[in-house]
Formats: sequence, structure tokens, C-alpha cells
Amino acid sequence: MSKNQYSKKNKNTKSRRGPALALLLIILVAVAYLWFSNHRMGESPRQTSDSVQQTEKTSTAQEGAGGDLAEYNGSNYVEMNGGAPEFPDEVYEKASLIKDGDKWKTKGNLLGTVDSNKLTAYEYYSPLDGLGRCGVAYGCLGRETMPEEDAERGDISSVHPSGWARGQNWERCHLIAWSLSAENDNEGNLITGTHYLNYEGMRPFEEETSRYIWSTGNHVLYMAEPMYAGDELIARGVHMVGRSVEDNGQGLSFNTYCFNVTPGAEIDYKTGVVTTSEQAAQDARLYVINKRSKVFHYPSCDGAKEISEHNREEVTATRLELTSQGYMPCGACEP
Ligand SMILES: [Zn+2]
Repeated sequence: MSKNQYSKKNKNTKSRRGPALALLLIILVAVAYLWFSNHRMGESPRQTSDSVQQTEKTSTAQEGAGGDLAEYNGSNYVEMNGGAPEFPDEVYEKASLIKDGDKWKTKGNLLGTVDSNKLTAYEYYSPLDGLGRCGVAYGCLGRETMPEEDAERGDISSVHPSGWARGQNWERCHLIAWSLSAENDNEGNLITGTHYLNYEGMRPFEEETSRYIWSTGNHVLYMAEPMYAGDELIARGVHMVGRSVEDNGQGLSFNTYCFNVTPGAEIDYKTGVVTTSEQAAQDARLYVINKRSKVFHYPSCDGAKEISEHNREEVTATRLELTSQGYMPCGACEP
């Protein structure tokens, strides 16, 4: 090789014009190449950072739901994406659905026509993460996934979802309601939630979905995702999305974020400790008292329903008024 180079050099020195032109050409080509590759290199990282930015944007939007948006604004839920349902691809795929924008179809059908017989009804629950938290749950729900009409929900008290703390009025909250999934104590489907999240936030959408399925026999693509802020153990809220399948969203369509809060209370989403604000402690509300045992309950408590007529009384009072009269809060409903 060195011999060759040497001889080339030698040749170059001999005739001057040809090599000078060749050198110029080489320089031109090199400059063009450098410019081109620089341009491309400059472009491709930009593209990468663009897509990273987009991913970040998406996750910010989601964290926004769990973080910024979770700043409870007095309403039990807020609309997401203008209320228009959106699902990850696998949610459609597992249902054997092919989608084109807003229109869905089953295999071999025209766009906008769904054949119930070709649909796959299913439920999916994420495995718990490293912190023991539930992840997204979704499915193509229909009568196949629902409990029998006369079925009764089983016991779920054995499950202690992430962040569960005793005596703080937490409820076990199904991501996909039992009435839709017939799932009782599936730990991938139960999160630590407030009564407010359960009944004021999620329940209306669950009931709407259930009613729709019972009345039409159709299916609903459905997703419920607990949204956490950082490594907190209790979700700030649940992102719920639903859309009826056979009628392409005509009968049912929602995209919503339900707050995991209790109005008037402060929640530590890491420890599950709930602090009732001064104001809420002073607010009078309806309790059921047992005049004999001197225990007071929330009206919804089973213990309250078991009190004999003779000893039972409904009172509107503050907690302080009751405790100052010697009444003790029930150990089960923790009023
Ligand atoms: Zn009670």
C-alpha cells in the first residue's frame, strides 16, 4: 500500500493540470457530500427530537390528567379530547375491529358496518407494576362479559389495592365495574378510591354503558386507566373512555377523567391518609345514630341498617356535635 501511494504521489507531481482538476472535483464532491450529510444529520436529530417532543406532549397530557388537571375544580369529572373517544391500537385489534378514523368495521365488512358475530368480546387487565399499582384495563364489553342478571357480586375485601389505608374511608373501586365485567376480586381491576370517585365520578358512565348493552345487545369498546402522579400509590383519577361498536358510537360515546377526591378533604396520595378540612368537619350532614349503643353511622352503612327501629334515629348534625354528646363513630363506616 505505501508503495502504491508513493507511486501515485509521484505520478501526481509529474503532470500538474489533470490532478489539479481532479483535486477540485474531489473537493467539490467532498463539500457536496459534507453539506448533504450535515443537512441530513441536522435533520434527523430534529426529527427524533420532534417525535420525542410529541411523546412527551402525549405523556404530559396524560400526566396533566393525573397532575395538573387533577386540581379538582368542583366537578366530579371533566371531558378529555373534547369528549371524543380514543383507544390504543391493541384495544381495537383484540376486539377484531378494523378502524379507519371514526368508522369501524369487522373483517370482510364495509367500513362502518360491524358484524357482532365477528367481534371478539374480551377484557384485559394490566399486571400490577413495580409499586403494586393497577394499570390500564380495557375490553370489548358485551353481554358475554357481564354477570348473569340474577348474579350477586362476591366479596372483594381480601384485596388491598396500592395505597390502601385503614380507617380513611377508602373504597375498593373497580376499574371496569362488576356490572360490566363480572370481575369480583381481580387485583388488576381494583384501586383505592373515594366514595365520590366511585359514585359521583365513574358510576354514571358505568350505568350508561350497562344500560346501553342491555337494551341493544351491542358491544362497547371500553377503557379505564388509573392516572398516577409520579410514584404515588393512589391514583389522582381515572381516565374512562367508551364507545359503542355496532352503531359506530351513535348510542354511546364518552372520554372523561374522573377525580379521585373527596370534596372538603385533603388526600395524601402516597400514604392514603385523608385529612378532613376544618370546614367539612364543621358541616352538618345526615347521620344514623344508635341511641342505645351510642354509635353513629353514615346512612349507607350496613351497620346503620341493622339498628332496630326502637334505637335508630336519623339526625342532621356535625361530627363534633355528636362526639361531644358522647357518640362514637362506627368502626366500619368511619363517619
Ligand atoms: Zn357504620
